Amino acid sequence: MELQVENLSKTYPNGVQALREVSLKIPMGMYGLLGPNGAGKSTFMRILATLQQADSGSATLGTIDMLNQPHEVRQVLGYLPQEFGVYPRTSAEQMLDHLAILKGLSNRKERKEIVSALLQRVNLYEHRRKNLTGYSGGMRQRFGIAQALLGGPKLLIVDEPTAGLDPGERNRFYNLLAEIGEQTIVILSTHIVQDVKELCTNMAIINNGQVLFSGTPDAAEATLAGKIWAKSIAKADLADYQSRYQVISTKLVAGRPQIHAYSSEPIDDGFEAVAPDLEDVFFSKIHAVA
Ligand code: ADP
Repeated sequence: MELQVENLSKTYPNGVQALREVSLKIPMGMYGLLGPNGAGKSTFMRILATLQQADSGSATLGTIDMLNQPHEVRQVLGYLPQEFGVYPRTSAEQMLDHLAILKGLSNRKERKEIVSALLQRVNLYEHRRKNLTGYSGGMRQRFGIAQALLGGPKLLIVDEPTAGLDPGERNRFYNLLAEIGEQTIVILSTHIVQDVKELCTNMAIINNGQVLFSGTPDAAEATLAGKIWAKSIAKADLADYQSRYQVISTKLVAGRPQIHAYSSEPIDDGFEAVAPDLEDVFFSKIHAVA
């Protein structure tokens, strides 16, 4: 099964063009949708999740016409929105049971088994009787995944799921998603390059509602081979370097700014060639350098 999106466009009533002719082929596995805030990621996800309407374009999942068959989409979709709403004073177990009823699982015994299995899968079984209000950020996200997995979705959409997680929680969350991605199409939207680097087999970079790259992370890096140059500089000289070179990023390395510049020719002036990483690709694409 594959998700095929063609020429998807959406303009909000205030005139903001959130998506411009977005076309993507999204296969089984982990797919990273990488873009800065405001790029159009949530709009894209909400349209696929049937919560918003596109102005034009199409999206097909197997035999399902996603823009015109919302009922069919909801049967195969799991969705973890960016803001996963209210955390009531109920336990994870009760809440999942309740959500399972809403999903149409009316058999009590069957529901209990499914809820237990899901809580085990996301590693919350031992905390199943705890109130959701007392859950940490990472536990909440894992609970969010458990609810999204109710009904065994073929397509799982997770919107900015790692924001606010500490490194340990993020790792646990990555492992969980990677496992799910073995049997499901998982679309993960993020502005965090590391999420895509560590997790995704395929990816797209979007900005201003437009697709700037789609393919594998390796192919993304290969587009910049031999074109990224690094130099450690004094902070006071940054503006000067920015005016003379196409500086795509500045990072502090041991407290000292290290700049990465884009150039198809070697830059003398003390720069060294470096192997491009996904961050270089991201910054060069969103600053329209390469
Ligand atoms: P992202 O998820 O990448 O941060 P969004 O899809 O939320 O991007 O937003 C894309 C653009 O559309 C932004 O400029 C945002 O301000 C605008 N936008 C999002 N939702 C609405 C809305 N309901 N009404 C008007 N503009 C919106």
